[in-house]
Amino acid sequence: MRPAILNPLFADLAHLPGLGPRLSKLAAKLLGGDKVADLLWHLPVGLIDRRFKPKLCDAPDQRIATLTLRVLAHHPPPPGKGAHKRPYRVVCADETGRITLVFFHAHADHLVKSLPVDEIRVVSGKVEHYGAELQMAHPDHIGPIEDLEKLASVEPVYPLTAGLPPKTLRKAVQAALERLPPLTEWQDASWKTKNGWPDWEKALRRAHAPENESDLAAQTPDRSRLAYDELLANQLALALVRRSMKRLAGRTIQGDGVLSARVRSALPFRLTLAQERSLSEILKDMAEPSRMLRLLQGDVGSGKTVVALFAMLAAVESGAQAALMAPTEILARQHLATLTPLAEAAGVPLVLLTGRDKGKNRQAILDGLASGAVPLVVGTHALIEEDVAFNDLALAIIDEQHRFGVHQRLGLTGKSRAADVLVMTATPIPRTLTLTAYGDMDISRLDEKPPGRKPVETRAMPLNRAEEVTGAITRALAQGAKVYWVCPLVEESEKIDLKAAEERFLDLEAHFPGRVGLVHGRLKGPEKDRVMQDFAEGPLSILVATTVIEVGVNVPEATIMVIEHAERFGLAQLHQLRGRVGRSERPSACLLLYGHPLSETAKARLKIMRETEDGFRIAEEDLRLRGAGELMGTRQSGLPEFRLADLSQHGDLLAVARDDAKLILERDPELESERGSALRTLLYLFARDAQVATLRSG
Ligand code: ADP
Ligand code: MG
Repeated sequence: MRPAILNPLFADLAHLPGLGPRLSKLAAKLLGGDKVADLLWHLPVGLIDRRFKPKLCDAPDQRIATLTLRVLAHHPPPPGKGAHKRPYRVVCADETGRITLVFFHAHADHLVKSLPVDEIRVVSGKVEHYGAELQMAHPDHIGPIEDLEKLASVEPVYPLTAGLPPKTLRKAVQAALERLPPLTEWQDASWKTKNGWPDWEKALRRAHAPENESDLAAQTPDRSRLAYDELLANQLALALVRRSMKRLAGRTIQGDGVLSARVRSALPFRLTLAQERSLSEILKDMAEPSRMLRLLQGDVGSGKTVVALFAMLAAVESGAQAALMAPTEILARQHLATLTPLAEAAGVPLVLLTGRDKGKNRQAILDGLASGAVPLVVGTHALIEEDVAFNDLALAIIDEQHRFGVHQRLGLTGKSRAADVLVMTATPIPRTLTLTAYGDMDISRLDEKPPGRKPVETRAMPLNRAEEVTGAITRALAQGAKVYWVCPLVEESEKIDLKAAEERFLDLEAHFPGRVGLVHGRLKGPEKDRVMQDFAEGPLSILVATTVIEVGVNVPEATIMVIEHAERFGLAQLHQLRGRVGRSERPSACLLLYGHPLSETAKARLKIMRETEDGFRIAEEDLRLRGAGELMGTRQSGLPEFRLADLSQHGDLLAVARDDAKLILERDPELESERGSALRTLLYLFARDAQVATLRSG
């Protein structure tokens, strides 16, 4: 249970002054969470310095100043037509000059109250010179002289969302800071001293109160400390999960090689060196008595499925079962299609289980798995439903592509006696990020493509030349090519910009009647399958798709990938999409159509895409260009999104946090010491409740 001392930080945002039910919803969306703590993790990105307090004669043009003025006269706009377009003016002065405060769409009552004639008022805002005349339009602050100190200070600037006024957000942050509970230090004392880090509370307060631009840098002691807290919580949590999985006694899985020999002779190709290396790492892990926790990382098309199959066969050879879980129906079917002929060659029964299997059919599949008659299964998350039982599951493979989280991983292994776990991912993740998502998982990398793959010729061109593309497609289709045409997701959510895709579909359909298909996230499963099928093997030559189509699909005949509004995609996504072509002997092309304006980052991304096809290099560049928090596709990838740490800046701290976490658990396995208990609080602070639960008396 979360310690009560943290309760103020886990209160609902709506309890903070100024944030009612409506604004707190907006804020929660901005913050990615609806708790007070979520607000505290929202650090300023800029500041407004209001400490400059000149006399009017010294107030420069275009600079923020805090002025002490006497109110001389109010000039409401003259009544009549068009009055609402004219400003309300208030003339003020100090002993050195005059200034006019200008208000459009003013509430006269409000101004009369806040700027009473003949009184002294403090006014802060941007001074503007019009010839000899000084003006200030819509001062940011107006207050009595007692507020001078408060107003003439430095104001943090937060990332905002439409409809949430900056003042409201600042006020809420201040209120949240007032609720900071005193917490026992969880960081190692000497490490803290060595870095010159302040206490947590002080660090948080100061991070929200920058005095100079340099205070906004990621490397300040305050921000580094907060980042490290977050990273340590992340690494400690992962270490706990890993340990709880490893604790379940493992078993030795060793095949006799009979089945895999049959498959090897049935394979129309030889495994690449990278595949052989990864496979032997996996088989070695399986043969050890402890549990395997391994990540198989490889670009799309690098041949993970075959490696997975050989691992599965080892389990079958030892008399047990193996399961492969894919994130979507289409991907599960794709795996099935790849594996079926090979499993047949080996004489091993293989079934598919998805959410679409119902009634008798489903029951028959479940019976086969429960009795052990069926040793191999491929499926979706239908595999982790409650009534699915295995006779003896020895290997659980999870093709994460980019969708599962830790929960699903645990779900499938829960159906086994100490199954070995292999996670496969096609997301090229930089090493630093792998650490955040998978902690100390062992890693095998397929860093080599199967031979014979032709490079994909990649070109970028402005969207308004789409007509030329149509021309090029006409020529390609005449030679039997198949074309993907991807339209972007506008929102991050599954909500798709269906309209744009539909328009593109109609446009292409007009050029190529009867040969264009459309898939998007709202199509029902069977409909989607039918379109995909017609594209893979049927009459369709062009597939218009939103990115919610399963990027895992394999249509080797497809040789052209058109990506519309390529500037809206992250590098990782562009790379994954491009990986859909270049899968055959025929030359392939990828056309990146961009709209304007093109930001510097977008330009750099398109350039990298033209330069390389190396997924790992692309991933590193992506991290460098945008910072981990913004990595497009981060959300789908199941990668944690850090709030305080920025991995492009604090990457080195991550490795330290990993070692730190390891050492902590070696010395105090159940976090029972005084520091251990403080570390539990840290875990709760970052909502790692489930991981604390793996501790004795957690
Ligand atoms: P991934 O799952 O990593 O995206 P797949 O396992 O689906 O890749 O492999 C992509 C394609 O490459 C499949 O058609 C597969 O049969 C083929 N393939 C796999 N390994 C090799 C290899 N060593 N040589 C040639 N082709 C291969
Ligand atoms: Mg595959």
